[in-house]
Amino acid sequence: MADADITGKPAFAPGSVWLVGAGPGDPGLLTLHAVWALEQADVVVHDALVDARILAMIGPRATVEHAGKRGGKASPKQDEITARLIELARAGQRVLRLKGGDPFLFGRGAEEALALAEAGIPFRVVPGITAGIGGLAYAGIPATAKTANSAITFVTGHDQTGSVPDAVDWEGLGRGSQVIVVYMPMRNLQGIVARLLSAGRSPDEPAAIVSRACAEDQGVLVTTLGSCVADAERDGVTPPALFVLGEVVRLREKLDWWGGKG
Ligand code: SAH
Repeated sequence: MADADITGKPAFAPGSVWLVGAGPGDPGLLTLHAVWALEQADVVVHDALVDARILAMIGPRATVEHAGKRGGKASPKQDEITARLIELARAGQRVLRLKGGDPFLFGRGAEEALALAEAGIPFRVVPGITAGIGGLAYAGIPATAKTANSAITFVTGHDQTGSVPDAVDWEGLGRGSQVIVVYMPMRNLQGIVARLLSAGRSPDEPAAIVSRACAEDQGVLVTTLGSCVADAERDGVTPPALFVLGEVVRLREKLDWWGGKG
């Protein structure tokens, strides 16, 4: 990897790609590596999830490409995006691939990094604060609390075909993980809830749906496992959103520091 200056700021080498996590939205949650990448990049290829305030930090010398591919909408296919990254790097650009949250958590970062490795393109991975950590914190819901849980699971609510992922042992998960955070939950919420109920979780267990976490219009719906589908429908909750199940949700009552903002 390229040389770093005295502050630890690495030089962004022409012809390389940085896979960078932009965090859940608030620019203050960017890492220094992400900021340095934004300063030095020649081209930024970003996803739909990246917050507009962060895109506004891109320097005037960089070109910006939107590789957005959000649930169901027509957009570039993953292999087209990867091919584009390789093409830009081969043209000698400093390519910043900017993703919401953390690039290696449900973000296709692994696939992109593998393709870069296969193509012999030098790359760096800059982790970001994932929505399941940062978004929960902004909702006043701690990921763990001594009184509530010693395990937490991040799980995706749909697989490549768009269905509830069958490769997940929902029964085992329901029994074994006191707190469950479901990414991309909305399309299959009913099916997910049914699986967790049949795993023995109580319909009265506290749950929350955190939408647009960290944005000015962040929404937090506090509900229960049994009522969440109806409540989400009533409130018209829209993605991006996280479903959180577990006793930690109760702590929001005291820990909602973001408060009146959303
Ligand atoms: N790599 C990302 C996740 C990408 S998958 C990360 O680490 O956060 C996309 C899903 O992430 C969304 O459907 C939603 O479940 C969640 N997500 C991302 N940003 C979010 C936000 N600001 N608020 C709520 N959920 C978010």
